[in-house]
Amino acid sequence: MKDTFHLNTKIIGLIGHPIKQTYSPFIHNVAAQMKNLDYIYLPFDVPTANLRNALRGMIALNIKGFNVTIPHKENIVQFLNNVSEEASIIGSINTVVNEMGKLNGYNTDVDGALATLIPYKNEINGMDICVVGAGGGARAVIYALIRYFKPKKIFIINRTEQRAEALKNYFSAKMKYTSIKTRELFPPDLVKIFKDSKLIVNATSVGMFPDSDDIITSLSDSFVKDQLVFDLVYNPPETKLLQLAASNGAIVLDGVKMLVHQAAKSFELWTGEKVPIDELQRSLMMVIKN
Ligand code: NAP
Repeated sequence: MKDTFHLNTKIIGLIGHPIKQTYSPFIHNVAAQMKNLDYIYLPFDVPTANLRNALRGMIALNIKGFNVTIPHKENIVQFLNNVSEEASIIGSINTVVNEMGKLNGYNTDVDGALATLIPYKNEINGMDICVVGAGGGARAVIYALIRYFKPKKIFIINRTEQRAEALKNYFSAKMKYTSIKTRELFPPDLVKIFKDSKLIVNATSVGMFPDSDDIITSLSDSFVKDQLVFDLVYNPPETKLLQLAASNGAIVLDGVKMLVHQAAKSFELWTGEKVPIDELQRSLMMVIKN
């Protein structure tokens, strides 16, 4: 990371609450260094009650842009000047650009999800898909699947089934997509639904460090050979879920590629510069593994 700052050093960052362990400062500060840009990325812990004032502060201090994480991804929309069509459909913002005092919202998680899934487009099209989880990550993945793939059916499976149901109704209204079914996480027919799916996506935080031994129990007996299993969790990269899926012959896709690609897209929105993604991913892997 750069160790000298100037009057012209541009500030970018992250708002959320609480700000837990995050690799975003590392990724973006390394990206700035790779591109020899005079930027610094800082985390800002902003409770919900302070969100509006924090955004005014961002404009007043000429902060060039920032990522948005839990709990602001959905309710920040009301304070923004513009929202991209994609972010508006998804209903979740993870990147804001300050353009001359106007705050414009984007969702770059879609770019990350697509970078991971597009290489398997032929395998996914026409098949059943399971997305476990109904939060912001799930929203971006489901949007990407509906918009860029042709799934036969999408199952949204969530601990709180009402949330899955709300997401189903949301996408039905916003995208006129009606082939979604929902389930809570524990009914007896789940194993069959999982086994019959070509792609299973874990969009919950289960398995994330420091609880890396955790696994969604109803998934543990549900993998078949050549199935695609995508875990949004990126720390550790090889989650227990992916280890188990691989040992049953599944093709496993970790959350690191999505993380790096969504970050690279955000960085491009703030700076206009494309980062060398493979190099960035290699630098990140060295930090995650230590
Ligand atoms: P979120 O909006 O808070 O949603 C969390 C989801 O996880 C909800 O569906 C929640 O179910 C479920 N969940 C949490 N704990 C659970 C448990 N013990 N058992 C079963 N379900 C549980 O979070 P998010 O933003 O979608 O993030 C979800 C995960 O994806 C996180 O690990 C995050 O780091 C990861 N992610 C990764 C990337 C990437 O670039 N790789 C991008 C976005 C997110 P309820 O509705 O029942 O509470």
